[in-house]
Amino acid sequence: MRIDPTPRALQTVRNLGILAHVDAGKTTVTERILFLTGAVHKRGEVHEGTTVTDFDSQERDRGITIFAAAVSCDWDGHRINLIDTPGHVDFADEVTRSLRVLDGAVAVFDAVAGVEPQSEAVWREADRHGVARLAFVNKMDRAGADLDTAVASIRERLGATPLVAQMPIGSEERFTGVVDLVRMRALVWPGDTGTYEERPVPDALRDEALRRRRALDEAVAELHPRALEEYCADGTVSEVTLRTALREVTVAGEAVVVLCGSAYRNRGIEPLLDAVVAYLPSPADVPPVRGTLDGTEQERAADPAAPLVALAFKVHAAPTGRMTFLRIYSGVLVKGDTVLDTGVGRTERVGRILRVQADRHTETSAAMAGDIVAVIGPKSARAGTTLCAPSAPLVLEAPSTADPVVSVA
Ligand code: GDP
Repeated sequence: MRIDPTPRALQTVRNLGILAHVDAGKTTVTERILFLTGAVHKRGEVHEGTTVTDFDSQERDRGITIFAAAVSCDWDGHRINLIDTPGHVDFADEVTRSLRVLDGAVAVFDAVAGVEPQSEAVWREADRHGVARLAFVNKMDRAGADLDTAVASIRERLGATPLVAQMPIGSEERFTGVVDLVRMRALVWPGDTGTYEERPVPDALRDEALRRRRALDEAVAELHPRALEEYCADGTVSEVTLRTALREVTVAGEAVVVLCGSAYRNRGIEPLLDAVVAYLPSPADVPPVRGTLDGTEQERAADPAAPLVALAFKVHAAPTGRMTFLRIYSGVLVKGDTVLDTGVGRTERVGRILRVQADRHTETSAAMAGDIVAVIGPKSARAGTTLCAPSAPLVLEAPSTADPVVSVA
């Protein structure tokens, strides 16, 4: 058992959701992320029912992602806590609860179908919860795949401002890479292993890439004062300013950076992870959480020095014991701590703190504001229950008795 006593700096955490219409490729994207970050070593295939986030048997049987699972992985010095949100409309409550605990999300679209009805519903929910987003146009290898049409549907059907940061190289079966329009470099996947080779932009694509970069600069300049200044002075925006601007407008929810790839062919996932780290907010970038105490509203910032407040968003009855998945909003949770379950008004002991990594768990001695972990010990918490310091209670959400405890065989 590995104990990790040092909580990460808030800025290096990304609480990330993958949002999509059923069949757009959310499970495949999730699985590839876990594969590339080393969280799992064998690639699962959706049709075999072996992908790691779909570990519930009912889910495997139905072949769709029903129950959200939280999985931690590492990328470029950052911890990504991945919350798998259901894409099926029947599970809208679960989508809503998952969105509450996220700071940012990747919306996955099918490059042939573009925006589909359920993507619209989930998108509106994400708007309501102020979740910053990137868009990943998946299945670029499919016959009929077209990035520009998918981007138009993001603009028209979702009313979003897309900022297209990549240009595909080749189409359909011959989709082999992308031009990164921010760095003006070609990223090419020679095989299906997920690792790209970086090259200069090929001469034949240069004019189109420059035209698309100019369109990106122009769109960013409309949203960001410094980018506008540079654009007006030089007719272009520098890479450094462009990166800062893309991050700031994404965090503010003013625009959506669009990337593309083929999760199935393992193309586009590494740049997607880079964009998650570069552009999506950390827990330090989002507004303080609001709760109530005796009818009075209070705020708690993501401050490790503040009293503990955490929201239980998922409970699994696992063979190892009842696992309660928590988003910690403020304070530090230490193994052995006594916490107040505001749902039942009782204190309980946190016996173990687990970081869930795909199909295995790593025990940790402490977790802090901004983090997502599972705990063993609390017996009565349900999804929606607040766990907090007994000396400084706060209720984040009125608990509902309808929320299920999910059994995992
Ligand atoms: P989810 O319902 O959104 O979780 O979607 P899945 O990840 O289960 O994918 C739905 C189907 O699309 C599966 O048969 C996948 O193998 C397939 N798929 C996923 N990504 C791609 C892709 O990049 N290209 C193609 N052609 N098929 C894909």
